[in-house]
Amino acid sequence: MAQAFDVVVIGGGPGGYIAAIRAAQLGMKVACIDEWKNAAGGPAPGGTCTNVGCIPSKALLQSSENYEQAAHHFADHGIGVGTLSLDLKKMLARKDAVVKQNNDGIVYLFKKNKVAFFHGRGSFVKTVDAGYEVAVAGAANETLTAGQVIVATGSSPRALPGVTFDEDRILSNDGALRIPGVPKTLGVVGSGVIGLEMGSVWRRLGAEVTILEALPGLLGMADEAVAREALKVFTKQGLQLEFGVRISEVKAGKKSVSVSYANAKGEAASLEVERLIVSIGRVPNTVGLDPEAVGLKLDERGAIVVDDECRTNLEGVWAIGDVVRGPMLAHKAEEEGVAVAERIAGQHGHVDFNTVPWVIYTSPEIAWVGQTEAQLKAAGRAVKAGQFPFMANGRARALGDTTGFVKFVADAKTDEILGVHIIGPFANELI
Ligand SMILES: Cc1cc2nc3c(=O)[nH]c(=O)nc-3n(C[C@H](O)[C@H](O)[C@H](O)COP(=O)(O)OP(=O)(O)OC[C@H]3O[C@@H](n4cnc5c(N)ncnc54)[C@H](O)[C@@H]3O)c2cc1C
Repeated sequence: MAQAFDVVVIGGGPGGYIAAIRAAQLGMKVACIDEWKNAAGGPAPGGTCTNVGCIPSKALLQSSENYEQAAHHFADHGIGVGTLSLDLKKMLARKDAVVKQNNDGIVYLFKKNKVAFFHGRGSFVKTVDAGYEVAVAGAANETLTAGQVIVATGSSPRALPGVTFDEDRILSNDGALRIPGVPKTLGVVGSGVIGLEMGSVWRRLGAEVTILEALPGLLGMADEAVAREALKVFTKQGLQLEFGVRISEVKAGKKSVSVSYANAKGEAASLEVERLIVSIGRVPNTVGLDPEAVGLKLDERGAIVVDDECRTNLEGVWAIGDVVRGPMLAHKAEEEGVAVAERIAGQHGHVDFNTVPWVIYTSPEIAWVGQTEAQLKAAGRAVKAGQFPFMANGRARALGDTTGFVKFVADAKTDEILGVHIIGPFANELI
């Protein structure tokens, strides 16, 4: 016998669990299905973000930054630390504990808000009078029905063609967060947010890190001035960055990985490293969802097609977060989740895509919101830009970190702020 709900949410990442909780708070009977398993095979709601994304990466970024501060910067403040040591096992265990606290927090919030949680894979079965039938395949097999379904199945790491993640030598973001010993040499394919953050973690802990990037420069999506400054600082820190590379072969051996590629001049080159992180983007996750069972439309990238309000081609079916268009960011998924729950409740949920901030938690941090100067000029908009260096800022001097600047881009006539771009201390909090 099918269990009937007002809303079924498929996926319990930041998009899905937030949507489920908000819908329940608005008085609806809600179920959330999530298939993520912890090491013991039990439920671990929170999706990529909580389990192998934002949360564990930020835990390791903080731990490794503390290590680097103690190793290289405490002395400037007159603090001696004697002989510094690294207990990587403890650092990784701390990160796992932080993840578990977040998993447990979501389970608690589901209970508190009376969201029924189902651990397993959710897939569309058919349309029924009540709306949609959704099967749960997991520890127990269940059938649910609901008039409203929110798909929040997230994304998975993209592999290089023909190169599978073994999570031992060739690592996705998952394996990159649990390397058992600091590698002497580490390669990273892709200099996006994830590649830069994971490369920074292992460099601070002592690895020699080389990043290979297909594009001609760093951080194509950031403001040009920020990208230039970032390249200068990261190179000075010891990250080796090579641009314009075309990878032809990746071979994993027992103790190392070799990467063959053509460099920017088209010459044959190779890199031999202990471990290789591949972070070349993410693909929308619809495996096992059976969208075809109900005729749910996907685009050529495999993302679910939605309008500005996250409505799919099917009445009563919505999709949010990484599985739809737009930036793959946890807070964007959350905002869409809240807005969809409110729309289902007849309210006027709204997401302003112009004000979704980006943060890269490297050191210095990089953060921005709105458009870059180059994007605005290309669109023919008359703008003016102002830049102020942290070098001339008393708070930054007191902090002992004067790297970078804050840049504002505004409409030349009206002063409307169109973009804010920061590289430097506390960029994350400032944005
Ligand atoms: C290393 C890394 C660091 C990141 N750092 C940041 C950051 O600092 N800030 C930020 O904003 N973003 C960050 N992100 C991006 C962020 O993690 C994603 O944008 C966010 O998790 C998307 O949320 P979501 O709910 O759409 O999907 P997900 O978090 O991917 O959750 C989807 C869930 O659905 C489940 N699922 C999939 N299919 C089914 C099915 N058929 N049935 C049941 N369950 C299913 C999955 O198992 C998963 O639990 C980072 C990502 C990575 C990889």
